[in-house]
Amino acid sequence: MSIIKELYGSMVFNDAEMKARLPKATYNAMKDCIREDRALDIDIANVVAKCMKEWAIEKGATHFTHWFQPMTGITAEKHDSFISPVGDDTVIMEFSGKELIKGEPDASSFPSGGLRATFEARGYTAWDPTSYAFVKDDTLCIPTAFCSYGGEALDKKTPLLRSMEVINEKTLRLLKLFKMDDVKRVLCTVGAEQEYFLIDRKYYKSRKDLTYCGRTLLGGRPPKGQEMDDHYFGAIKPRVKEFMSELDRELWKLGVLAKTEHNEAAPAQHELAPIFETVNVACDQNQLVMEMMKRIATRHGLVCLLHEKPFKGVNGSGKHNNWSLSTDTGVNLFKPGKKPHENKLFLIMLAAVLSAVDKHQGLLRATVASAGNDHRLGAHEAPPAIVSIFLGDQLTAILEAIESGTEYLGEKMPELEIGAHVLPHFKKDSTDRNRTSPFAFTGNKFEFRMLGSSESIADPNVVLNTIVSEALDEICDRLEKAEDFEKEIYAVIGDIYKEHKRIVFNGDGYSDEWKEEAKKRGLLNLVSTVDALPMLINKNTLETFSRYGVFTETELVSRYEIMLENYVKTINIEALTMLDMVKKDVIPAVSAYTTKLADNIIKKKASCGSYKLEENLLKKLSYHSDRVYDGIIVLEQVESRKSSGDALATARYYHDTVLKAMKELRTDVDEIEMNMSATDWPYASYGQLLFDI
Ligand code: ADP
Ligand code: MG
Repeated sequence: MSIIKELYGSMVFNDAEMKARLPKATYNAMKDCIREDRALDIDIANVVAKCMKEWAIEKGATHFTHWFQPMTGITAEKHDSFISPVGDDTVIMEFSGKELIKGEPDASSFPSGGLRATFEARGYTAWDPTSYAFVKDDTLCIPTAFCSYGGEALDKKTPLLRSMEVINEKTLRLLKLFKMDDVKRVLCTVGAEQEYFLIDRKYYKSRKDLTYCGRTLLGGRPPKGQEMDDHYFGAIKPRVKEFMSELDRELWKLGVLAKTEHNEAAPAQHELAPIFETVNVACDQNQLVMEMMKRIATRHGLVCLLHEKPFKGVNGSGKHNNWSLSTDTGVNLFKPGKKPHENKLFLIMLAAVLSAVDKHQGLLRATVASAGNDHRLGAHEAPPAIVSIFLGDQLTAILEAIESGTEYLGEKMPELEIGAHVLPHFKKDSTDRNRTSPFAFTGNKFEFRMLGSSESIADPNVVLNTIVSEALDEICDRLEKAEDFEKEIYAVIGDIYKEHKRIVFNGDGYSDEWKEEAKKRGLLNLVSTVDALPMLINKNTLETFSRYGVFTETELVSRYEIMLENYVKTINIEALTMLDMVKKDVIPAVSAYTTKLADNIIKKKASCGSYKLEENLLKKLSYHSDRVYDGIIVLEQVESRKSSGDALATARYYHDTVLKAMKELRTDVDEIEMNMSATDWPYASYGQLLFDI
């Protein structure tokens, strides 16, 4: 632990550092601003900037950057040097309060979905003092929000900060009814567990699909997949172990407490879980985690794949968004306590989540929609595309009792029988694990598991905060009018449960029966991105988000368009890459190999040997080669047919037609790979990619 202590946060201008370096008055003024959601005035900013600069220079920084998260979903930086010439061939290191709080990057190259006409390229970055500045690559990185000249959000952080204010306000409204007047602030906390693959760099380099698209577009199944379940929590290979230790150390320095790293279900797949943080910090940190994973992998001759589905037939990667609400007095509002059935505040919070998630299930699905995640959601070992909530038997029984007005008789949690008497006996966890639920209550938080591994966690949390705020408002409207508060609480919980219990499902989310059952319950099953994205701009969504000032209608429409555009661009690049690979590598390889077979047949014929094997193989490969040729023609045709429809129609076309043609072409190419000699195949195989590390 001592090494962690030494390293932890050493590159972060955190609270302790500020306390030590800022004049007391400045420190207090800054804290007040953060607490009261006010902007900092320039005098204070100047003092903070000076101290921050001195600290950063001590850490080796020569540059500073406003670090922000445009709608591409990854982070952007524009580096400026601290150095200013002073005339007599000397320089001073300068950094003013103005430079700290505001930046003006040329923003025309970031997606805005039409929000910022290109002639008005100005965008502003504004310092977010609630997320600490840090030093990375000799650069002082200042977390900032990014918006247009007109104040529209052009990034992921701005709406997140807005949603944090709303959930704070609305939860405080409820807490007041519970006489919790000592609470001044409610914080949304999030821990984002990150899945990823590590593969050998030399194999990665041999594949254009991985290089251009982050996933394999071709590839026959290896003889061994994940069916033995021997990778999950298995021993970690030395090279991976070294990568993980370095990643840990680098993340600790940046204030990210990476806690557990273990193997995931698929070969070459791993997971990292950080300790939870306030959501905007968690969001920044998850970006850092992804960036560091990629960078550190390179130092070990590895490549980190963050794509949702790098390999066909093998588990995809996701992100688990553990979401909760806590007060500044240290109360987790989703902690059921020893007697959840008597914990009115907990039950009402639970009811708020049920109602919000049911009402906005389509929107939640839309926040995780992407071309990459489409390969994963609803597939093997991934949550289904249907949103439902796992509560566990105990909580479900409590809510059932409240709804029906009967007494909750409680249940003695049975002791877990392990069979051997020497082992300790322990009580079964009241919220037993359910790995197949897309939205699971896990003891004191909700775990939203549908996120794709490469996605920013911002959008899902913006949505969660806002829709739960709405539900809390509705609840407070009733409770504030109540004559008998106690009675009304149970009435509200009962009513909400009655109306929204269809969203509760404790069974196996991967089963086909659930799909049927969900349909009967009227739950949405938005299978693809194209089905899901319109939820971003439906009436329900627009109303809720503009009422709470989290997104304007224009902002939502622009995000919808950017997501559709990304979807189309992604598949377009994939289709072109696939064509390139098949035409330039696969066809020459198969042609050479079949020629070799044909030559062998002639030679064997001449020597009166048997050539049945070569002949059969040649027939088989020729059959698939012909089909590959046809497949190329089809894919080229559908790919080049430019759609003139709107963005949604274009995306639909790519989904229905282009992806389908790619899938068909792939089938034959994979069949060829499985039947060809390994040395004549131009790419690293799945076996090498997944097992040789
Ligand atoms: P598990 O048993 O699923 O491993 P953990 O307690 O280890 O559960 O948590 C998994 C993730 O959830 C971690 O990233 C952890 O920091 C996060 N987490 C734990 N408590 C909270 C909370 N109150 N709010 C948000 N995230 C939390
Ligand atoms: Mg998890």
